[in-house]
Amino acid sequence: MNNKAFLSLGTNIEDRDANLQLALRSLRSHEEIKIEKLSSIYETDPVGYTDQAAFLNMAVQLATSLSAEALLELCLSIEQQLGRIREFKWGPRIIDLDILLYNQDNIKSEKLIVPHPRMCERAFVLIPLVEIDSTICFPGTDIPLEDALSSVQERKGVRLWKQINGEDESGLSGN
Ligand code: AMP
Repeated sequence: MNNKAFLSLGTNIEDRDANLQLALRSLRSHEEIKIEKLSSIYETDPVGYTDQAAFLNMAVQLATSLSAEALLELCLSIEQQLGRIREFKWGPRIIDLDILLYNQDNIKSEKLIVPHPRMCERAFVLIPLVEIDSTICFPGTDIPLEDALSSVQERKGVRLWKQINGEDESGLSGN
């Protein structure tokens, strides 16, 4: 499992906490994935289309032997398993799993763009990510993502909702 990836998870349809936990359980149960670190869970004001419920967002660091493309397929299948219906692009969602970073790779295919194209504009992505690892840099640069965060507008729309103690302890107990 020698690839290191960071995912962003988000949901704004109840039961939001349960949706995150179900997505984490599916990731943990995959034999080619080991969840290494979890961020806390943040409640975040919707951006883009604002007339919808607040989100819960978190970030996850994992080790995996899956390729980036296979990891994307897994993310999409977990979204489907949890019953995600794509209504409109920025609308409510039961669960959203995005690949933020995959090693230090730059990937641009029809299906997959990594680093995630909008990650540096989104406080709800950067705050949980930087909580996991404040030293990560944007691939190909020596610019810490923490610096990108200081120029992002909606930082105050991101509130700590549930503190999580970094390590994936549920993984250890096999849940
Ligand atoms: P979304 O509405 O944000 O869930 O969009 C999902 C679609 O974006 C998927 O069908 C992917 O093919 C595409 N996509 C491109 N880059 C990424 C990425 N880094 N992580 C997740 N989905 C991506």
